[in-house]
Amino acid sequence: MCSHPGRQTVQRWRRHIIKGMGYTLNRYSRQTIFPEIGLEGQKKLGRGFAVIIGCGALGTIIASALVRAGVGKVRIIDRDFIEYHNLQRQVLFDEEDIKNNLPKAVAAEKRLKKVNSEVEVEGIVSDVNYTNIERLVRGANVILDGLDNFETRLLINDASLKLNIPWVYGGAIASSGMTMTIIPHQTACWHCMVTGSGKSGPTLTCDTAGVISPAPWTVAALQSAEAMKILLGSRKINPDLLVIDVWENKFQSFKTNPQSDCPACHGKYEFLEGKFSTRTTSLCGQNSVQVLNSANYYLSFEELAGRLKPLGEVTYNQFMLQFKVDSQEMVVFPDGRAIIKNTNDEAYAKGIYSKYIGT
Ligand SMILES: [Zn+2]
Repeated sequence: MCSHPGRQTVQRWRRHIIKGMGYTLNRYSRQTIFPEIGLEGQKKLGRGFAVIIGCGALGTIIASALVRAGVGKVRIIDRDFIEYHNLQRQVLFDEEDIKNNLPKAVAAEKRLKKVNSEVEVEGIVSDVNYTNIERLVRGANVILDGLDNFETRLLINDASLKLNIPWVYGGAIASSGMTMTIIPHQTACWHCMVTGSGKSGPTLTCDTAGVISPAPWTVAALQSAEAMKILLGSRKINPDLLVIDVWENKFQSFKTNPQSDCPACHGKYEFLEGKFSTRTTSLCGQNSVQVLNSANYYLSFEELAGRLKPLGEVTYNQFMLQFKVDSQEMVVFPDGRAIIKNTNDEAYAKGIYSKYIGT
């Protein structure tokens, strides 16, 4: 609870703040009073550069927090457009943005520039992959994960270790979520935590398991605090894996240790080299795109059909699985290959693949 000083005192403070420190610091007065930040810390935040990859439920909260906190430059990268089912949890967007067909990165930039015109907000509409990630994150002081897929996270991990930029992992599904901060060559990396070359088999996605907004919002709040600590040079960053469940009221922390056989920690950046990347090929004259992901080398149709059934029409035999929802249609093969029909747009097809099959 705030105790209320007298009105005159408040006015005196306000005059002092505006006169002595400028408007900028007055805007941040509630966090400069916080001793871990202070005026010096605020200046550090003002010199900071954060890159947020993915602007969904996690990304919109993180971007809001960092722009409002006065982080000097915030770059937001996302490849998608906004859909109605995003509005339930993605706080920077509204119905008007959907009517105007705005990509998420553009809508987020527009909204956040109105929130804080004193910082540089940059929205980039792009599919982050091994050919462009280094260019997109170079010069950043921290990278934040607002993604929904394994593959790009392993790519962030490689780029982070190679370019020596800390990053904050975050993920949420249903009522649960996880976060972990990676300081290159000091803490365990994300590749250390996941086994082998990433994963095998399909993963649950928000499109198949659902998500309630408090789960990603809690994770994103924790990620934002970690980003602020990194920008401030605080020693209080959390290198452990924190797992939460907002429905079951659980907060658990797991120790992470660097693995002696982790390729990324030993300078082998396999995801940055494109070794495990999702490959797409537009199938000439067929209005279809083939998507191939070598990590999904064995798919269980039974399991995949179980996840997709509540969402649309699914049929399968031992050779292929067919899935239809609205105008989207795809055929999936046991080696993880899929043909996304009714499109020639490779980035869109990759998005559909990651949404329903997982990467
Ligand atoms: Zn590692």
